[in-house]
Amino acid sequence: MDKKKPHVVVLGGNFAGLASAQRIREYCGDAVTITLIERREYLLYVPNIPADVMDNRDPGKHQVMPLRPVLDDDDIAFIQGEVCGLDVDAKTVSFVPNERPGSEVETLDYDYLVIAVGAKFAYDRIEGFAEHGHTVSDLYHGERLRAFLFDGVYKGGPIAIGSARFHQGDGADGLEPYPGGSIPRAAAGCEGPVLEMTTAMATYLQQQKIGEPSLITTFTPGEMVAEDAGVNNIKAFLEMASGMGIHYRNNVQDIKALTPEGIEFADGTQLETELNIVFPDYVAHDFLRGQPVCDSMGFVRTNLLMRNPEYPEVFAAGDCAAVTMPKQAAIGHQETDIIGRQVAFDLGLLDDEEANKPLQPMVFCIGDMGAGKAFYVRSNTWFGGDVEVLKIGRIPFMLKMQYRRMFFDLKGKVPDWGIGAARLAAEGHV
Ligand SMILES: Cc1cc2nc3c(=O)[nH]c(=O)nc-3n(C[C@H](O)[C@H](O)[C@H](O)COP(=O)(O)OP(=O)(O)OC[C@H]3O[C@@H](n4cnc5c(N)ncnc54)[C@H](O)[C@@H]3O)c2cc1C
Repeated sequence: MDKKKPHVVVLGGNFAGLASAQRIREYCGDAVTITLIERREYLLYVPNIPADVMDNRDPGKHQVMPLRPVLDDDDIAFIQGEVCGLDVDAKTVSFVPNERPGSEVETLDYDYLVIAVGAKFAYDRIEGFAEHGHTVSDLYHGERLRAFLFDGVYKGGPIAIGSARFHQGDGADGLEPYPGGSIPRAAAGCEGPVLEMTTAMATYLQQQKIGEPSLITTFTPGEMVAEDAGVNNIKAFLEMASGMGIHYRNNVQDIKALTPEGIEFADGTQLETELNIVFPDYVAHDFLRGQPVCDSMGFVRTNLLMRNPEYPEVFAAGDCAAVTMPKQAAIGHQETDIIGRQVAFDLGLLDDEEANKPLQPMVFCIGDMGAGKAFYVRSNTWFGGDVEVLKIGRIPFMLKMQYRRMFFDLKGKVPDWGIGAARLAAEGHV
């Protein structure tokens, strides 16, 4: 390693970690050395796991991108390891190389640190999940649900789809991304997948001639499911779902337990079900809890330039950052560009106007509905903005599939015009 150059260490190598490292290389060129630490050797393209499961395809064959060659293209050093400690005063990170069990703890120095390790998905906090729960947030559980649906296990009984309660910290309180706006507290980490699985399951029931969409109940711990996607958007979505016969329950507070009979909620109500598709509480990783750069729940505190206020050489992006609400790859993507520019600004490679544009989060979500259709949401009203768009049809579905293809073909470097082109196709203007 060139000791004369600032050393940037990136923790995590999925959407936010990979994009942060690539953006820093793009804006800083060879003025920095970059090391990325990630426990897996591959990027997992989580957003398209549901579509694979519901189309009876193995997501393990389609949603995985090897990391080593991608990082090598940009001269980003890769360490396959489990990050286990952080000392922000000494500017060091501890990790255990994890190719084989039993390795020693190693330490690495940094000048800049980007924390992009996502969150733990706390299925282990949902009583009865192992026996009676299903989900689509990773390859294992996706395959388990696919087998349940397509190998004749599911018999056509009632279905519940929804989230456990999210325990959001105080790390984004007081931030104002739009004039007069805020990063509100949410009852769930991200409910786009709840809407997606609701509509995709309705299509599955009809296509497989197993039953009607009225078998489905969509539930939320909060006042309104996915309210971060825009209240009018969600009202329109719920009207459509209700027209299909889908049931809806709000304010269930939390999932209390999954049982042989069904699902019990923290508000004291319950549902008899055969299938429970649930999304968990998002919990901060153990090595972050109690860190001076983290909030009351272990999510990394930053300002809207993605820097920790007290330790400005520490950045965070993606699901582990307190400002990322909802926990959505599209918002993390916006953050990584800011980080690349900020590091370049520090090194005198970009000026104030080019670098210091604070985050203005935009919820951007395309959800598979089955049968070649998808819903497209673009909205910032939850944060105090005035954009609220919902489109439903074949073009959004095509965009979802094309975006994933472009992501893999371009090794994660989807240009900004990729999003612009999606807007043009879905909304008819940019
Ligand atoms: C079913 C589903 C569908 C979704 N659909 C969409 C969608 O359509 N659009 C959208 O924008 N978002 C969507 N999301 C959200 C999106 O997947 C996340 O926001 C995104 O994956 C967050 O990226 P990230 O890099 O911050 O975190 P992650 O993807 O969680 O990646 C974190 C990385 O850090 C690594 N890591 C963690 N801890 C350590 C450690 N101690 N040591 C080393 N490495 C570590 C992990 O292995 C992982 O690779 C969806 C989520 C789900 C569950």
